[in-house]
Amino acid sequence: VPFGFEDVDRTQKAGLVRNVFDRSARRYDLMNDLMSLGVHRAWKDMVMTRANPQPGERLLDVAGGTGDLARSFLTKADRAGKRRADPRRAEAIVLDINEQMLRAGIKRGVEPSHTGRIEWVTGNAECLPLTDHSFDCVTISTGIRNVTDRAAALKDMRRVLKPGGRFLCLEFSRPTSRAWENLYDAWSFNVMPELGEHVAKDRASYQYLVESIRRFPDQESFATELRTAGFSQVSYTNFSGGIAALHTGWA
Ligand code: SAM
Repeated sequence: VPFGFEDVDRTQKAGLVRNVFDRSARRYDLMNDLMSLGVHRAWKDMVMTRANPQPGERLLDVAGGTGDLARSFLTKADRAGKRRADPRRAEAIVLDINEQMLRAGIKRGVEPSHTGRIEWVTGNAECLPLTDHSFDCVTISTGIRNVTDRAAALKDMRRVLKPGGRFLCLEFSRPTSRAWENLYDAWSFNVMPELGEHVAKDRASYQYLVESIRRFPDQESFATELRTAGFSQVSYTNFSGGIAALHTGWA
């Protein structure tokens, strides 16, 4: 179900609701900061550098939350357009199952040159309400871990890519050295739940976050899942010693 900027005005009238959105977006940023030791913004920037956005391209950012990747995609595409004097405008759809996240993203706003170029769509990654072969690039950043039927989601993300389109998936992964893993385990099992309780007043969510990361397949196993879904030239790059990994593939 797409909804546009018109809805923001209605939302802004309800001060109470707005506060809820603010809280959820802020809390979510805080969780990402804590779990990634503060470097998730740098990771996202590296994802977009690898995505190599071009003028006129269409991005689908699945589980896109408040739209960080979409904003970065448009900025980088515009820069590439300026360099080559290509006036075509890139566009993006941010899709998320949680309407509150999207509303928080809409409220956060976009820079003037991006106005009308980001569409916010509620939907499930497992069954995208979008036509086949309609995107040049599909991204999902720290979202695939939360999807129940991962195989269905991967297949559907491939379905909406144009032939030759690129897929990029950033997710928490497995530290590559034993020493780093021990340190990260100590951080996530001991420090994180405490921080969750005292900083965000939400121990349960932090515990869930830590456990969901541990349950997610390692780099090689996830690469195999991408190949099974039909992506070609699958590869991955570890970020921060494997705390996260960027998997890429082509439709
Ligand atoms: N991609 C954003 C980023 O990197 O800032 C948000 C990541 S946030 C940790 C995970 C997001 O996945 C949440 O906004 C959540 O609502 C969304 N999500 C979880 N399951 C989903 C599903 N089945 N389909 C679409 N979005 C989903």
